[in-house]
Amino acid sequence: MLALKAIKQTQIPAAVRLIVSRLREQGWETCLVGGCVRDLLLGKTPADWDLATAALPDQVRAAFPQVPLLEQGLKHGTLGLVLERQVYEITSFRQEETYLDHRHPDQVLFTTDLNRDLARRDFTVNAMAWWEDGGLRDPFGGQADLRQGLLRCVGLPDRRFNEDALRMMRALRFMAVLGFSLHPDTARALRQHSPELTLVAVERLRAELDRLLTGASLLPVLLDWKETLAVILPEIRPLFGLKQPLPWHIYDAWEHSARAAAEIAPQLRLRLAALCHDLGKAETASVKDGTIHFYGHAAVSRSLCEGLMLRLKYAKALRATVTHLVARHDVEIPLKPAAVRRRLQEFGQAGLQDLLALKRADIMAQNPALRPRRLASLQQVELLLQAEVARGSCFSLSDLAVNGRDLLAIGLRGPAVGQGLRLLLEQVVEGRLPNDRPTLLQAARNLRP
Ligand code: ATP
Ligand code: MG
Repeated sequence: MLALKAIKQTQIPAAVRLIVSRLREQGWETCLVGGCVRDLLLGKTPADWDLATAALPDQVRAAFPQVPLLEQGLKHGTLGLVLERQVYEITSFRQEETYLDHRHPDQVLFTTDLNRDLARRDFTVNAMAWWEDGGLRDPFGGQADLRQGLLRCVGLPDRRFNEDALRMMRALRFMAVLGFSLHPDTARALRQHSPELTLVAVERLRAELDRLLTGASLLPVLLDWKETLAVILPEIRPLFGLKQPLPWHIYDAWEHSARAAAEIAPQLRLRLAALCHDLGKAETASVKDGTIHFYGHAAVSRSLCEGLMLRLKYAKALRATVTHLVARHDVEIPLKPAAVRRRLQEFGQAGLQDLLALKRADIMAQNPALRPRRLASLQQVELLLQAEVARGSCFSLSDLAVNGRDLLAIGLRGPAVGQGLRLLLEQVVEGRLPNDRPTLLQAARNLRP
């Protein structure tokens, strides 16, 4: 049972108070709604301040003649008010609408009845409104559900998921972020309507997926809702039930991937890499001498991960980072400073730290009996990395004590300059030469034809 906090006016930003009080003075019922009310009752700082008002958008506009407005949400009745370089969204009360395509209401109907506005909202814990002199409005038992950590659709779950399939992804996201569970009727409807997720625009899905993946309670969602997730991530389905060899593994390939993803720090690039690192195992599984092997799976995982990220329209830079980690997650790093420097050269410092984090999560998701030994050897690599970083070790051309101009000055020309620099870097990384200017200049002189 969660204890709920009392909401105090002092927790609310001055700009929000100004907007609400001006509209209320003019006689329009106006209040905080949705996520910010939920978060305040939970004692959390809200991510954004959703405001709702009985005033129509034109009436809101008239109430703030001097304030710059953002109008992209206008067709949903939402205006953005820009105060002190922050945008505050205010939505005119709307009522139940009809949906023909599982995602957009056919028309937006305004109302002055707050309860009707709350009735169109997705979950009871998101269907509460608050203002100091109005108190808490909670017509659907949101507080009771919040105390129990329960997500329950407002109204009939079947109908609500049928209207807007995105609500199912939102349910999974709230479970992963808040650690809540689903009311049985909501859960049943969600399983039944999952296939309709394919109808939702990929940008909307991904916004929810990203928050889901970085949630603190990710593991149960990945395990209990794998079939739903596989509707939008079909690449994961072949891992369900895919056996992995003892003694290294005690989980099937999906549970292993899910555990790795939940284990790694909640940053999107790391969570995606952990989730995708073994995607190629189903395709590459083979049995040799009675043991199952996945030869070359990292390369196949890489290409499946690339396809998944392209389909979900992830930015190119994130795609490159994640797919590189996936492709290289199995690379051996011998316990030698030169080997660590070679990896530093390939990944950069931050990238190598990510790779080691991925390796650590991978180990944590394998047989716990083997963990101490495997973690100990990974820790040796981490210590070597720290030592290299601490001594300002050279692992990229920009760290090298000589540059292209130096090589030109001693008579190298054209492509020989670049080749010469790379050769010197290799010698330094391998520890055959110190990163010291006179030594490197001498070595460069020896390269002249
Ligand atoms: P957070 O801001 O923490 O992401 P939130 O619940 O505020 O969570 P928003 O996307 O900001 O999420 O939506 C604000 C409110 O609008 C929600 O609390 C909910 O009441 C309502 N809402 C949002 N999306 C939907 C939807 N697809 N169907 C019904 N109601 C929705
Ligand atoms: Mg919100």
